[in-house]
Amino acid sequence: MGEHFQPRPDVALRAGYHSPQVDVDVRLNTNESPMAPPEAFLDAVAAEVGRVAWNRYPDRGASELRARLAELHGVAPEQVFVANGSNEVLQTLTLTYAGPGRSVAVFEPTYAMHAQIAKVAASEVAEGARAADLSLDLAEVRRVIDESSPAITYVCSPNNPTGMVESRETVRAVLAMVPGLLVVDEAYAQFAPWSALELVDEDTPLVVTRTFSKTWSMAAARLGYLVGPSWVVAELEKVVLPYHLDSLKQAAGVIALDFVPEMERRVAELVEERGRLVAALVDLPVQVWPSSANFVLFRPLERDGDTVWQDLVDQSVLVRNCSSWPGLDGCLRVTIGTPDEDDRFLDALRKALS
Ligand code: PMP
Repeated sequence: MGEHFQPRPDVALRAGYHSPQVDVDVRLNTNESPMAPPEAFLDAVAAEVGRVAWNRYPDRGASELRARLAELHGVAPEQVFVANGSNEVLQTLTLTYAGPGRSVAVFEPTYAMHAQIAKVAASEVAEGARAADLSLDLAEVRRVIDESSPAITYVCSPNNPTGMVESRETVRAVLAMVPGLLVVDEAYAQFAPWSALELVDEDTPLVVTRTFSKTWSMAAARLGYLVGPSWVVAELEKVVLPYHLDSLKQAAGVIALDFVPEMERRVAELVEERGRLVAALVDLPVQVWPSSANFVLFRPLERDGDTVWQDLVDQSVLVRNCSSWPGLDGCLRVTIGTPDEDDRFLDALRKALS
């Protein structure tokens, strides 16, 4: 065999990004909902399978889904863009507004795909650091913006993997500084006390991204969206692939929106369970960060993070190993599961720490 043709050198994945899909009993590593959507949702989607015109391309504008999301958030359908997971929303934003010769600002540690998508799109990544307590540092935001004039600036709230929410004042302050678009990634917003959706209007370069993967219990469907000015949405529509969102998924999204109270009930249950999990963690020799999301970041104090992670896997419990992420030496992140799953995790962790 001769030499293989090599891919672009700038597309190499940041080490440790992909969460390993290990076959374990208790999976608490990717912040999914531990609960299935309601039976009535599943029945309605099953009925829809027989109604889809499978020989036809889907509604390219996803008009019904966008209208329903617009209604939910009190905006116009032209202010909603939908795609295959919020990751595709972020990718389309990046392809449209960043790319070669433009930069994307991120504040680490944060959701790794923000930088990864920027790199794959051949953008520069302007990396700022969070403060020692992992909160967003406005002086650092100022420095990064002055230095790189980013086309896209990311704020993740609640932030993955820290679980911290940025305040209204902080988001407003960042908005006043950005020379391009501000993207507030709200994948976990239903767990948070406020949403940047209230700051969206036609004159503000702000978009807010959301997903069906977490609170909607629909990670398998790959569905996400953004709310922002219609002039942004119109540009994204030019860049995204034609018919990118299949008919069944559009229908599933519409059906999901008939079950808002059920979704809110699941969120409330997870918030209560998060309280129980955090209360148990603070009794153990670990540092715990306060969370406004469906996961908790913690750092074993007396044992190395990699060892604890492996010890948990050996007990068939999978959490996210964040040890190699910037500023997160020895840290692990656990998704809130069902009470049974969380008990299994806590038992395994107690053993791993002893
Ligand atoms: N943003 C954040 C902050 C996330 O944690 C995730 C999922 N891990 C996503 C976006 C992507 O979610 P999806 O593509 O499933 O909508």
